[in-house]
Amino acid sequence: MNAAKHHPSAEPSGISWWFEDALQAEGGQVASAVLTGELRVDVAIVGGGFTGLWTALALKERSPTQTIALIESALCGSGASGSNGGKVHGYWASLQGMAESIGEDAALAVARAGTRAQDAIRAFATTPGRDVWWREAGNIRVSTASAQDKKIDGYTSMARRLGVPDTAVALTAEQVAARCRSPVFRGGVLFPEGANVHPARLARALRMAAIEAGVAVFENSPMIGLDRGTPNRVRTPQGQIIAREVVLATNAALAGEAEAKPHLSVFSSYAVMTEAAPARLQQMGWAGDEGIADLRMFLHYFRKTPDGRVLMGSGSGPIAYGGNTADPALTQDPASAARAERGLRRLLPIMADVAVTKAWGGAIDISADRLPFFRTIPGTRIHYGCGYSGHGVNATYVGGQCLAALVLDVKDEWSSLPLCTRSLPRFPPDPFRTLGARAIRWGILACEEAEENEQSGPMLARALAAVPRVFGLRIGTR
Ligand SMILES: Cc1cc2nc3c(=O)[nH]c(=O)nc-3n(C[C@H](O)[C@H](O)[C@H](O)COP(=O)(O)OP(=O)(O)OC[C@H]3O[C@@H](n4cnc5c(N)ncnc54)[C@H](O)[C@@H]3O)c2cc1C
Repeated sequence: MNAAKHHPSAEPSGISWWFEDALQAEGGQVASAVLTGELRVDVAIVGGGFTGLWTALALKERSPTQTIALIESALCGSGASGSNGGKVHGYWASLQGMAESIGEDAALAVARAGTRAQDAIRAFATTPGRDVWWREAGNIRVSTASAQDKKIDGYTSMARRLGVPDTAVALTAEQVAARCRSPVFRGGVLFPEGANVHPARLARALRMAAIEAGVAVFENSPMIGLDRGTPNRVRTPQGQIIAREVVLATNAALAGEAEAKPHLSVFSSYAVMTEAAPARLQQMGWAGDEGIADLRMFLHYFRKTPDGRVLMGSGSGPIAYGGNTADPALTQDPASAARAERGLRRLLPIMADVAVTKAWGGAIDISADRLPFFRTIPGTRIHYGCGYSGHGVNATYVGGQCLAALVLDVKDEWSSLPLCTRSLPRFPPDPFRTLGARAIRWGILACEEAEENEQSGPMLARALAAVPRVFGLRIGTR
């Protein structure tokens, strides 16, 4: 094992392998305008990640005459959208949790919206000329410890119960091994709706498509103030946008907005990328393009690239106090990067001596029921969307459609979704929220690590890990 307990081979930063590769693929020529002076438009969008960009495209498609400006504080795709695992799947794997929190019919409605999103992202990504590495072979959750085995039946029996058995198919250990061999893989469950993408190239392609559709895109133009009114005024260091409608698509930064704050907590996720090792992938028999994740609550997620690299992520990064997205622990925590690397060496031991070339972390916007929410701030024409809870590559398309419907004030298949209409559960206020979540995280991590060694966690850890279920919270619930 190469990674010492707290020291990854590569120091983590906030810049992903994907984003560097995407900028390189653009030839280092990143033509971006900075907002200067005053601009008057119908819609101002703040944030140039998937949410902001899909919203801009949805608006242009539905109402081509709307004038739209999008501002991004750095470069489009430099946030979570260009840093993630690139695993694209909707909500079929979330049926159980959704059925508990919003009911079975609503859960099915959200999962079907995810399928519409998957179709639309596929259509965008596979348009000739877009080299965004779209590969589609489903997503597997695999058990790597006996404590994880029982979860498999939960997925498949819920899918059967809701009349959609084909969305979650149990795999025996042999069937898992036929797709990817590892001595620690046991049985699993295949969710056929699942793809991989190069997330930063997708974000940059969306930026290009938005510009081509007539959206005025400004980068290195952070919003430094928002004066609510009719119209609203969005201020940047060198300019301002006067707009009837404003969309805040700033992801975890929304934890600082009064309306979203009670419903949003800021966690983090870390990933490592190996050097290309196609021969090792062949040795494992990992010939297809399945995305894979284990069945932990703080899961390891992994996928390969067309040139034979493996990305291994660990959704177990630190929790920011009070939702502070500037907390360096969200992007520079060596222990979390080391956890992702240990996951790589344990889950795919054939990769034991393959070098890790890059490690990075990023903020995750966790909602109290682990579902995103899209809303209009009452009494204003300011709309926002967040709460993807580490699962936003597919869901941000849904977000774009929901936010476009809210901007246009139309009741349709998107704005009628529970994502726009359900009453939102709240987190307890700080300091209880952050300190409680940190304690629970510690408890769950300790239990899950012990379970990987076929032991049970220490008593205190087990007690803390049980807290969310006792209080009916989905966060941290395994
Ligand atoms: C390490 C990691 C791995 C992940 N893996 C997966 C995965 O495999 N599959 C999956 O489905 N999801 C995954 N996610 C989650 C997914 O990436 C996000 O849910 C999704 O990208 C959110 O998109 P967004 O546009 O809302 O946010 P972002 O992409 O973060 O975009 C928000 C943008 O707003 C900008 N901004 C913030 N404040 C301001 C301001 N004041 N003015 C102007 N601009 C501002 C930011 O710079 C940023 O670019 C992962 C996330 C991380 C961090």
